[in-house]
Amino acid sequence: MLISQLGGEAALINLIRDKYCAEPGDDLALGIGDDAALILCGDHYLVVTTDMLVENTHFRMDINDAYLLGWKSVVVNISDVAAMGGEPTYAFVSIGLPDIDVKIVEEIYAGMRDASAAFGSVIAGGDTVGSENGIVINVTQLGKVEIDKAVRRDGAKPGDAIIVTNTLGDSRTGLELLLKLGMDDARRVGSFLVERHLKPEPRVFEARAAVGTGKTHSMMDLSDGLSSDLQKLCEASKVGAKVYADKLPISKELHIAAARLDADPIELAASGGEDYELLLTCAPQDAPKVIKAIQSAGSKAQIIGEIIDLEGVYLVSSNGTANPMPASWSHF
Ligand SMILES: [Mg+2]
Repeated sequence: MLISQLGGEAALINLIRDKYCAEPGDDLALGIGDDAALILCGDHYLVVTTDMLVENTHFRMDINDAYLLGWKSVVVNISDVAAMGGEPTYAFVSIGLPDIDVKIVEEIYAGMRDASAAFGSVIAGGDTVGSENGIVINVTQLGKVEIDKAVRRDGAKPGDAIIVTNTLGDSRTGLELLLKLGMDDARRVGSFLVERHLKPEPRVFEARAAVGTGKTHSMMDLSDGLSSDLQKLCEASKVGAKVYADKLPISKELHIAAARLDADPIELAASGGEDYELLLTCAPQDAPKVIKAIQSAGSKAQIIGEIIDLEGVYLVSSNGTANPMPASWSHF
């Protein structure tokens, strides 16, 4: 059976989890299924996550640059550490390379080093291997979090406010501009959006501030898009959600680009991936405190909906009609 026939990436992950992965137990507090694993280590948790980027699946060198590719490959992992409430510490980098200019390889590593340094981490080791079919980068990121501050995605409760940081859909819109116009023209007409796609910022300090309130029930980072990621959070927590279309934070740059691309800004914000913003829930009465904490760490945050005691994730339009949220993009 092909992966696509099995039901795609999510079905494959379920199969691997059910047949081959360890259940939590002993020092393994949390295994497969969240943004990162949590392993008891003295008086705190070791946070472990890994992510692979493959040329022509996740990135194209003709609309990228080597430094930013390195930056992003580390940031997507640091974002998963942040999503648990953790602080990144050490990265291990495995890289598959065709016979390319050493300068390009050094630029990739400079991007990885700088992204690590910006968020308190360092590259501590890794592996290199030849690759016939383009560049492959795998980063394993370690981090740490206090036991009482770790936040998982399975803690959302009916009635919780759903909060996101900053604006949504910018990265996907930046990618659409890059694909349509190429690097130079895309940067000219939408530099903010292109930057959001090529040089994302993980919300480490914001996540630390949120978990520092002690009020955050569940949290994850937005890597695949709100509709897909909120679905995962709801499935883990055995709840549903309503999101209000007119509450979705959308940048003015996205509105302008959407008109140019003949795309729907709401759909871009609801299903566009790779923003690496935070998605979190807390009791509605605690939302002002959590939002204030996130703002003090340098980002905007707003309530976009609420957790409900029903299955499914719904987008409520401004006229009050609720529809299932549009599906996100899938690799398989
Ligand atoms: Mg994640």
